[in-house]
Amino acid sequence: MGYHCWLCGKNSNSKKQWQQHIQSEKHKEKVFTSDSDASGWAFRFPMGEFRLCDRLQKGKACPDGDKCRCAHGQEELNEWLDRREVLKQKLAKARKDMLLCPRDDDFGKYNFLLQEDVDPASATPEAPAAAAATTGE
Ligand SMILES: [Zn+2]
Ligand SMILES: [Zn+2]
Repeated sequence: MGYHCWLCGKNSNSKKQWQQHIQSEKHKEKVFTSDSDASGWAFRFPMGEFRLCDRLQKGKACPDGDKCRCAHGQEELNEWLDRREVLKQKLAKARKDMLLCPRDDDFGKYNFLLQEDVDPASATPEAPAAAAATTGE
């Protein structure tokens, strides 16, 4: 009984070989990329900071240029947020399809997908929705 990775078109003869395969960088790259989105994105690859660059906003060029971890414009930020959703879905699907090791948490440049969403706008200490859930009579 072998293992077949339909993403890479690769067969593994043993569980050990299979686990090595699904933890390889090449395989992980396949998990997150597909032919259809190769040309679909206009901006840089997201680098983990999903907010606008402060330095650029002050009207000057950002000293980090393309290496900056923040978005250099609202359009870029919008694309990053869309892209993060797409990648998160791919991650969830790959996990569900057993194409990733459950304990694997090293996805290189995709590691930002594992971060908790910290959205300062929606992260409020009070949760009014929970209080409303208690029913009266
Ligand atoms: Zn594979
Ligand atoms: Zn910047």
